[in-house]
Amino acid sequence: MRGSQVSARLKLLSAIVVAGIILSLCGYNSINARAQAKRAEMAYGQIDLKRLLAADEHPEEWLTAGRDIGKGHYSPLTDINRKTVARLGFAWGYDTHTNRGLEATPIVVDGVMYTSGSGGTAYALDARTGRELWTFDPKNDLSVTRRSCCDIVNRGVAVWKGKVYVASFDGRLFALDAATGTVLWQADTIIDHKRGYTITGAPEIAGRVVVIGNAGGEYDTRGYLSAYDLETGKLAWRFFTVPGDPSKPFEQPELKMAAKTWDPKSRWDMGGGGMVWDAISYDPDLNLVYFGTGNGTFFDQSKRSPAGGDNLFIASIIAVNADTGRFAWYYQEAPGDQWDYDAVQPFILTDLKIGGKIRKVLMQASKTGFFYVLDRKTGQLLSAENFVPVTWADRVDLKTGRPVEAPGARAYKTGFNGSNYISPSPVGGHNWNPMAYDPKTGLVYIPVIENGQTGLFSGKGFLRAWDPIRSKVVWEVPMAGYWDHPGVLATAGGLVLQGTGTGHFRAYDAETGKLLKDIDVGTSIIAAPMTYSLDGVQYVAVMAAFGGGGWSYSFPENAAYQRGNEGRIIAFKLGGGPTPMPPLLPPIGPIPQPPEQTGTPDTIKRGATLFNANCASCHVNEAGSLAPDLRRMRSEIHEGFREIVLGGAMVNGGMPPFEGVLSTEDADAIHEYLISIAWNAYKQQQAAPKN
Ligand code: CA
Repeated sequence: MRGSQVSARLKLLSAIVVAGIILSLCGYNSINARAQAKRAEMAYGQIDLKRLLAADEHPEEWLTAGRDIGKGHYSPLTDINRKTVARLGFAWGYDTHTNRGLEATPIVVDGVMYTSGSGGTAYALDARTGRELWTFDPKNDLSVTRRSCCDIVNRGVAVWKGKVYVASFDGRLFALDAATGTVLWQADTIIDHKRGYTITGAPEIAGRVVVIGNAGGEYDTRGYLSAYDLETGKLAWRFFTVPGDPSKPFEQPELKMAAKTWDPKSRWDMGGGGMVWDAISYDPDLNLVYFGTGNGTFFDQSKRSPAGGDNLFIASIIAVNADTGRFAWYYQEAPGDQWDYDAVQPFILTDLKIGGKIRKVLMQASKTGFFYVLDRKTGQLLSAENFVPVTWADRVDLKTGRPVEAPGARAYKTGFNGSNYISPSPVGGHNWNPMAYDPKTGLVYIPVIENGQTGLFSGKGFLRAWDPIRSKVVWEVPMAGYWDHPGVLATAGGLVLQGTGTGHFRAYDAETGKLLKDIDVGTSIIAAPMTYSLDGVQYVAVMAAFGGGGWSYSFPENAAYQRGNEGRIIAFKLGGGPTPMPPLLPPIGPIPQPPEQTGTPDTIKRGATLFNANCASCHVNEAGSLAPDLRRMRSEIHEGFREIVLGGAMVNGGMPPFEGVLSTEDADAIHEYLISIAWNAYKQQQAAPKN
């Protein structure tokens, strides 16, 4: 009896416990359900045209990459200003757990920050705290990463009516539920997967469609802009930027005109280039989509289009109707481009008083070194003056709109041979890093690059305040080097805010360029900051990690080489604390003794050629490079070499598989080459006097 009593009690007890668990689960569930219901009721990503048009009345939000329709990268917020900025400090940080470049400008709406990182990973964070709401990993086809000319980066998301649009590096465009990050639709933007197409740019909302371009002009691609239905992801239209093979029909009528500017014997097999890899803007008033196009493929016109010609529409700004994709106008900055002058730097749309008349303009500080002001209704060139030293053209003729090319400018061949430099270099006078326009000072703040005649890997960077009407520099601040030209934010607080490659975050007086605040954050910054306000607190936030073109080159002052390149989003506010600093990297160890060299001189030579063609854009073989220095491979890396190079054994570390591109013999030849340079370095190290 006692036993059964005990057993009954145990049963009762367990029943109570179970009931308790069920009750607490119910309670938990109901709380959870309430939270979910609340989340569903809450507005997530509810940006629409009405809200976008009223952006200035709600400066607490940051609704597009550049805040508003014009993308001036300017905020009317004033709490953080000339007087108070001395108290700016760390508010919160978020680790992206990536070590590639971060280039996007976040969007903030209704208390949530939406942004993107390496490869098109998307993040939704509580903008008050940096707490993660969701992340989205597009699960890139990592073999595509070997087509990365300039790092595996992504320049941002678009947010519209409850959806977040983001593109993956391997070329897919996604629509995500803004509340959860769930995929609502995806579209493959690539017309030929055998070619070097990728995406690094941000999508743009344009009426009923979302538009996106592609990168890949260093490979064998043909440029186009694709437009997809916002709701369904169905392709609405596609605009090709260069004519295809003339033996096939033209996809658009204007390509017939464009084809006349190419040698009929052009290398059509190379695709032609004209990639739309960054700037896209939309003017809802005119219902026009504006986008820039990149270099021609090949870079060298004598190979690309041997008889010359303008090679429309490379290195151009194009406007098309958002509903139909029909051509409206074009302006070509570098006819017959020979210098890698992609015309894709972010546009600013605004109104300027020129010659006593208010004009709706599109402004661009181009890679060409000229600051273009175009009438965005007609494409008429209103102004084009150089904001950096320019040697490829004497000037731009405003009547014809054409540059007056300097004698000998075409003698320059794009390459890394250390001679024959022209200004600007292929890095451009200004690259993708957003500039800012302050309507109060009337100045544009441009992160500029000067490294033409002095050689590709020397030169200077400046933050330069440019008067777009008088076409003159008003003030400038020197940066650490030509590689140091991060994106810019201007505010009505009289501030220009910018990170640095050396790992600082700075605030300048917008009128004078006087440095008002410098915060050492220890992480290299290339992206543009943005600002927003929540519960009466103004925040400034920036994505931080080094990358982009030339990302793997070694710059000793770069914070990424001193403290690593772990990506993070950093937010600042008045009265904030000191910014947590990443630890210093350990000193670089000695070069280990390489394995025995068994390859013949011929094999080593072949390996060197293959290395330069396939590996050198990331592995520059300098100590301190962001990609591993292959002279320092450990024995287990040597042993697993084939599996790493061909099979993708280190794909999670960022090393794409080269199966199908390189044969086993090729991989072995590269290995023999690397062993040979490792031995050279090792012998030098051993012969050096010890101290
Ligand atoms: Ca280019």
